[in-house]
Amino acid sequence: MRIIPQQQITTRRVIIIGGGLVGLGTAYKLQLRCPSARVTVLEKEDRVCGHQSGHNSGVLHAGLYYKPGSLKARLAVSGIREMVAFCQQHAVPHEICGKLVVAADESEVARLRSLHERGTQNGLEGLRLLDRKQMLEVEPHVGGVAALRVPQEGIVDYEKVCEALQREVEAKGGSVVLGAKVTALQLKNGEWRVGTTAGDYPADFVINCAGLHCDRVSTLAGEKREVRIVPFRGEYYKIKAERQQLVRNLIYPVPDPQFPFLGVHFTRLIHGGIEAGPNAVLAFAREGYRKTDVNLADLWDALTFSGLWRFLAQHKRMSWDELRRSFSRRLFCESLQRLVPEIRADDLAPGGAGVRAQAMSPEGGLVQDFCLLHRPRALHVLNAPSPAATAALAIGEEISNLVAKEI
Ligand SMILES: Cc1cc2nc3c(=O)[nH]c(=O)nc-3n(C[C@H](O)[C@H](O)[C@H](O)COP(=O)(O)OP(=O)(O)OC[C@H]3O[C@@H](n4cnc5c(N)ncnc54)[C@H](O)[C@@H]3O)c2cc1C
Repeated sequence: MRIIPQQQITTRRVIIIGGGLVGLGTAYKLQLRCPSARVTVLEKEDRVCGHQSGHNSGVLHAGLYYKPGSLKARLAVSGIREMVAFCQQHAVPHEICGKLVVAADESEVARLRSLHERGTQNGLEGLRLLDRKQMLEVEPHVGGVAALRVPQEGIVDYEKVCEALQREVEAKGGSVVLGAKVTALQLKNGEWRVGTTAGDYPADFVINCAGLHCDRVSTLAGEKREVRIVPFRGEYYKIKAERQQLVRNLIYPVPDPQFPFLGVHFTRLIHGGIEAGPNAVLAFAREGYRKTDVNLADLWDALTFSGLWRFLAQHKRMSWDELRRSFSRRLFCESLQRLVPEIRADDLAPGGAGVRAQAMSPEGGLVQDFCLLHRPRALHVLNAPSPAATAALAIGEEISNLVAKEI
């Protein structure tokens, strides 16, 4: 009798740092791609979704804005499909309500047409340029001279997406450890020792999805910080109940192509209500949700980074205008009136805020594309700003494909 040696199946231990949408989306996709891997997500807070993923606009972006061929364009387009399918499968509240991008005056029409072309190149279907009469049929109170209708975009409850992802990861044998801040990463004899505030974890592979702290976490693993995270706070106003009829769904401006931020806009929320915002103000703390929040280590980090000074020198006007608008409801309202002229400062009540983790180069450039740094036994997500919430599952799939051979 011939004995067939039992194939040795080695269980690879994968640690994912960060329990936001990107970390959880990656854990979920990795378990599907490599079922024998033992996946552990380490999250420093006492719940998942506590930072960017739980402080955003709740919009499902379809890939309209991004440079054709970029990772952002590719993963946004596949990402929205995957996210909508996931929401359907897991009963996560969402709605495909469509969006209007509005050219406030003739000077913006050429850029609106370029957006139309870009979206078409990226594979979006059903995009339609509307004249003033057609715009009013979609949004009866909108201003402007022309608009682009993006039918496949929508709104979603991202906190519920995170909860569903956590449940799925745990149901497949993975674990999500809360209150575990990663403070050390040491690679010795081919094995990582991941030091955390909740004890040490051994690992064969580490994936850094630490959002606002991803650059710092990468240095724990011995990487040089070539790009640095600069926090940009996005502040919102809520539209008072009696004026919410001014907005049906999503109304966006034509964005300034120099910046990855989309400009203040109107968003209908999945559980009711309308929000206006977010602006993009340099923050004095990476997790600084209030104007008065200052974190000395974060501030020092920012002020000693030459890229920030170059950015400020190159964009003095924009940075100053954003700061003024942050302190002035009237100025905020003036930006909104370019989209909906009837809105008044009195219609706006203070809302929440989020902080974007935006990677900046030493030359002062804002990194536009998603940035994944793949090393032996490690992968660092070094830039995952909007639309990374929408694209979280597609980013997870991309990462899983990149690292599958090693796991
Ligand atoms: C104001 C605003 C509006 C936005 N609007 C949209 C939108 O409408 N649609 C869209 O698609 N995208 C939007 N985005 C972008 C989107 O929210 C983010 O791109 C996405 O949530 C990034 O997810 P993440 O998992 O990378 O980061 P995060 O959600 O920030 O998660 C990172 C996690 O890592 C944890 N962590 C950090 N350091 C450590 C450590 N040392 N140890 C352990 N854990 C650690 C943090 O606590 C955090 O939970 C918006 C972002 C902002 C700020």
